[in-house]
Amino acid sequence: MKIICIGRNYTKHIEELENEKPTDPVVFMKPDTAILLKKQPFFIPDFSGDVHHEVEVLVKINKVGKYIDRKFAHKYYDQIGLGIDFTARDMQSKLKEKGLPWEKAKAFDGSAVVGKWLPKEKINDVNNIEFRLLKNDEIVQEGNTSHMLWKIDELIEYVSKYFTLKIGDIIFTGTPAGVGKVIANDRLKGFIDNEELFSITIK
Ligand code: MG
Repeated sequence: MKIICIGRNYTKHIEELENEKPTDPVVFMKPDTAILLKKQPFFIPDFSGDVHHEVEVLVKINKVGKYIDRKFAHKYYDQIGLGIDFTARDMQSKLKEKGLPWEKAKAFDGSAVVGKWLPKEKINDVNNIEFRLLKNDEIVQEGNTSHMLWKIDELIEYVSKYFTLKIGDIIFTGTPAGVGKVIANDRLKGFIDNEELFSITIK
């Protein structure tokens, strides 16, 4: 399986990192080895002194597809989740400055938290999902998928032009504002509405 990630999909997050608003979705990948194993803590890697949390709504693909029209995109996923795209921001900034790929800063082992999945039927409207991240029991990120620049079905249309989507692939749909540094002993909890979908400790 592969993990396809979208960057700069919420205006306020683009502003907080002083990035330019893209004309097309920003896309990058993480390998399957990036997935943080269940019930394991997240270990801050020694190559970074500034790892940030980015909470994101996840979509799990359940059907093979290529050149998927946005009208039919809803047929290609039946589970929605929540996760974290951990980012070594110091390293990413250096790579961005030089125009180099981001993988070392974004795709390292443990950098993809994948929480519990919810059946799509349980969600009234995928374009109106309320989600949030708590750090040490305080809300640090809050989002709603209605604020996405590219909605889930448009993202599926866009990424499937380049990559065949396969069963089990996961799309990270971008983070809202409020990204920030994690330190040892922090505890991160992610919620969609009032349902806790992950809880992890930083080491
Ligand atoms: Mg992200």
